[in-house]
Amino acid sequence: MSKIAFIGLGNMGAPMAANLLKAGHTLKVFDLLAQSVEKLTALGAHGASSAIEAVDQAEFVITMLPASKHVESLYLGEDGLLNHCPKNALVIDCSTIAAESARRVAKAAAQSGLCMIDAPVSGGTGGAIAGTLTFIVGGDAQDLARAKPILEKMGKNIFHAGTAGAGQVAKIANNMLLGIAMAGTAEALALGVANGLDPKILSEIISKSSGCNWSVEKYNPWPGVMENVPASKGYAGGFGVDLMLKDLGLASEAAMSSGSVIALGELARNLFAMHSAHGHGHLDFSSIVNLIKKD
Ligand code: NAD
Repeated sequence: MSKIAFIGLGNMGAPMAANLLKAGHTLKVFDLLAQSVEKLTALGAHGASSAIEAVDQAEFVITMLPASKHVESLYLGEDGLLNHCPKNALVIDCSTIAAESARRVAKAAAQSGLCMIDAPVSGGTGGAIAGTLTFIVGGDAQDLARAKPILEKMGKNIFHAGTAGAGQVAKIANNMLLGIAMAGTAEALALGVANGLDPKILSEIISKSSGCNWSVEKYNPWPGVMENVPASKGYAGGFGVDLMLKDLGLASEAAMSSGSVIALGELARNLFAMHSAHGHGHLDFSSIVNLIKKD
């Protein structure tokens, strides 16, 4: 069993860390929110009072933070975490961040004599709880091979997308499609309901027809259609509107730097930006249906 430092215990990090504990690993955990650390210590983790304390003697350092700026400010700089990780530790960043940021941190890690992979995930909070996440990895194959037994305790599918940063490029492409599909699903359901259909029956029909997608089948945005999804819990928890907006912004930056056309991705980014500007940034992203449906 391995000694693991886990930093960032939010909607995703907490259940991922809990699965590593269940598998018998020794965890030292840290989050800026003390109550998030307490929830994990109640499950058997050792609580740390700083990220630096958490990585002491760690064989693996895992981070699950909101965005590029959090990852860069944690790892980089004079007193950054890279200067405090044990030299044989493997650093695994599971946050969704800009590919350029991931490459910058991986390069600094290599300069400090550390190995690092970017390993963003897909599968939502449900996948994090069930331990069925998809890991999309960028970095050296031998580092991925070393990380695999750990990742397998949190996920079911593990892909090697390419060199450092490649995991983030694949993840951003996936999430741009997810943002488009969720907005499209919300539009289709709202259209059906406004024309007299029952949202549950319409969802069943689409799920067995050519419009079927993850947003209608596994994460339905219409309240009451599905149990145990944010739409049926007042859009609490899940994947925040502002996190989706961040990912669509990353897609936009990647498109500009490569001259790619993302007409629908930009439209989705604007819809989520509008929804966030109306004060809904903290809600789950499936609440985009409220921007679209008739009252
Ligand atoms: P979250 O906001 O719920 O959790 C982030 C946690 O990081 C918070 O608890 C925060 O206190 C902590 N944190 C921030 N800076 C810190 C620091 N310097 N040191 C220690 N802790 C720090 O976010 P989340 O939903 O868990 O998402 C995390 C990442 O995973 C994001 O990049 C997101 O885009 C990605 N992601 C989320 C989902 C989802 O469904 N929620 C799915 C796939 C990927």
